[in-house]
Amino acid sequence: MASSRTLGTFRLPPLPTIREIIKLFRLQAVKQLSQNFLLDLRLTDKIVRKAGNLTNAYVYEVGPGPGGITRSILNAGVAELLVVEKDSRFIPGLQMLSDAAPGKLRIVHGDVLTFKIERAFPESLKRQWEDDPPNVHIIGNLPFSVSTPLIIKWLENVSQRNGPFAYGRTRMMLTFQKEVAERLTATTGSKQRSRLSIMAQYLCDVQHILTIPGQAFVPKPEVDSGVVHFTPLTRPRIKQPFKLVEKVVQNAFQFRRKYCHRGLGMLFPEARRLESTGKLLELADVDPTLRPTQLTVSHFKSLCDVYRKMCDEDPHLFAYNFREELRQKSKKEDDKQSCRL
Ligand code: SAM
Repeated sequence: MASSRTLGTFRLPPLPTIREIIKLFRLQAVKQLSQNFLLDLRLTDKIVRKAGNLTNAYVYEVGPGPGGITRSILNAGVAELLVVEKDSRFIPGLQMLSDAAPGKLRIVHGDVLTFKIERAFPESLKRQWEDDPPNVHIIGNLPFSVSTPLIIKWLENVSQRNGPFAYGRTRMMLTFQKEVAERLTATTGSKQRSRLSIMAQYLCDVQHILTIPGQAFVPKPEVDSGVVHFTPLTRPRIKQPFKLVEKVVQNAFQFRRKYCHRGLGMLFPEARRLESTGKLLELADVDPTLRPTQLTVSHFKSLCDVYRKMCDEDPHLFAYNFREELRQKSKKEDDKQSCRL
């Protein structure tokens, strides 16, 4: 006979509502921790459906809080749900959910920024990078102050195929401040085009799948949220180390309203800035008068490939930091001034 796991028909038994759980365990949101909760289970069901078919999936939920999204994930017929929550006040409420879903919910009291998911699920789930994604998903509604650094860390993990991506092309669905969701998915030439757009889109297929109005949360945050779905690409659009891509992209967007040669020039020491920037743009075949927002991922690929060659020719180049050069220069000026006095 097929087990309930393979049938994927599990439903949680009747439970106190999330509002009652919050009252029962005195889970008032802590403003300093930017805690905003989703209480409407129809909405959490809708969010979870956007992650795709979760039947028999292994799901890693980050920041479950009082457990609204957690309940919807459990009702989606998953094989196992692992939740990592930093605030110990939420653990008893989550334990109640775990008792209602025997063998399905694993609770870790910890920090998503340091938790190692790569050993948490069975080895048998691992897929080759080029294969279809594994049946492993990351879902989370974290505070905005955590979700942005976390996505940068996870994008680096995508590029190195480690961390959550040791299983293969693990899919992620995360909530961001709406403006950040728009930046992650912004197309070439749009107002929101930024460093995050390039970093996410060179490694993943990125979709802004849902906007959640601020009033859906308790307490209501000042801004709306955007839910973003990421599927790592089989072949990244730029084949250079993450830190190198990050440096080129960061410099390009340094002066976002100016021509791109201004920001890209900051990759090179002042003494040879003009010459090296000209060489970079010429070899990469990029028009110096394009604005950073007008550069495509393919432009960035050419720029990163040429910059990589220039770094190979000059081993000191990658370590060069224009802010450090400016600091040294102003220190010298200060020293000169104090000698004169
Ligand atoms: N997922 C719940 C919901 O949608 O109602 C709670 C959302 S609340 C915005 C964010 C949750 O993430 C809180 O429960 C908070 O304690 C937790 N959290 C914040 N930082 C965390 C971290 N570094 N590691 C794990 N959990 C964290």
